Amino acid sequence: MEQRVDIAIVGAGILGLAHAYAAAKRGLRVVVFERSLRASGASVRNFGLIWPIGQPHGTMHHVAIRSRAIWLEVLRDARLPYRPEGSFHLAYREDEAAVAREFSELAPALGYECEWLDAAAVLERSSAVRPEGLVGALWSPVELTVDPRLTLASLPAYLRERFGVEFRFGCAVQIIDLPLIEAGRERWMADQTIVCSGDDFESLFPDVYGQSGLTRVKLQMLRTAPQPDGWRLGPALAAGLTFRFYPSFQICSTLGTLKQRIAQQMPEYDRWDIHGLVSQTAQGELTLGDSHEYGVCIDIFNKEEIDSLILRYIRGFLNAPEMRIAQRWLGVYAKHPEKPYLSLEPAPGVRIVTSPGGAGMTLSFGIAAQTLEAMAS
Ligand SMILES: Cc1cc2nc3c(=O)[nH]c(=O)nc-3n(C[C@H](O)[C@H](O)[C@H](O)COP(=O)(O)OP(=O)(O)OC[C@H]3O[C@@H](n4cnc5c(N)ncnc54)[C@H](O)[C@@H]3O)c2cc1C
Repeated sequence: MEQRVDIAIVGAGILGLAHAYAAAKRGLRVVVFERSLRASGASVRNFGLIWPIGQPHGTMHHVAIRSRAIWLEVLRDARLPYRPEGSFHLAYREDEAAVAREFSELAPALGYECEWLDAAAVLERSSAVRPEGLVGALWSPVELTVDPRLTLASLPAYLRERFGVEFRFGCAVQIIDLPLIEAGRERWMADQTIVCSGDDFESLFPDVYGQSGLTRVKLQMLRTAPQPDGWRLGPALAAGLTFRFYPSFQICSTLGTLKQRIAQQMPEYDRWDIHGLVSQTAQGELTLGDSHEYGVCIDIFNKEEIDSLILRYIRGFLNAPEMRIAQRWLGVYAKHPEKPYLSLEPAPGVRIVTSPGGAGMTLSFGIAAQTLEAMAS
């Protein structure tokens, strides 16, 4: 016997869960299918940073701010831990300080909450920042950190208990021919389906994915052992290399000089598109990364050279008591070369929502709210 719902969702990564939340809040009956026994894609492999400051001004920054508001609603209602401690982009060189200062002058008028702090003010707020050579930092109070593994493991139970969302783990969707859905050995009937299958371009609608222009991005990541009890990172940390990474900073006329210096003096960091981010998990470990290798065919083997470069760079600004590396892994996300994410309609009643790139944690709940609005209109 088939079971019936209003909306079936493919994938229990953060995009799938955010869509389940948005649909359930509208009173719809929802089922989520996840092929793995627990989510193990990009959503559990990331820093857990909700990072609006990285989004370009205008539409995507608004989506990020809306998403952050929904994240807070969910985290509080689900009683999940998070760190509302903002972010620092640290400057140790004059060209880095120039970008940070310029952004702090231009961005508030565009809706960003941020300011330039000198070295003394930064060190007053964080003992995790290395003081030697520090010029100052771009400070933003907006960024949140969640623990991605804990959050992704906990949200299904919350959605089930609070809204009656059904979950089928270990259940790969093989056929979507609405209203029929075949998943594992189960047959379901659904009025609509949202496919949030991350970087799986081959299993469902392969022709649509094949023509979409999507590619994959591989990132190398590291995690320290837990820090001593009570030691806190405070604001999540980024530094000069990050200015060349997020599109928001492209409004700065001073960015070109910084990029040029990095290209000349640190070509290996450009080669692997490395920048340094540091966040803290609920257990106190520090998550460190990352690098970017682009291409549909992913090299599953990590490069020691990349880990060494990431660590060397982060040691230049991070002042943490425990720097022993306890875990290393790779993560993969889907990315479109021009669009911030894709929302496609491969068949009536079916939406593919994918490829928020390196900002899926930041944007997920905002994108999901937009999808449900579009489906209702
Ligand atoms: C190392 C790394 C660090 C990052 N850091 C950040 C960060 O700090 N902040 C930020 O905003 N973003 C970050 N990102 C980006 C973010 O993690 C991704 O954009 C986001 O997790 C993508 O979510 P998703 O749900 O689309 O994909 P996934 O998390 O990959 O989920 C897709 C799910 O679909 C399932 N699935 C696929 N096919 C089927 C099928 N046929 N049937 C059933 N299930 C299926 C998969 O098993 C998988 O669980 C990072 C990404 C990486 C890799």
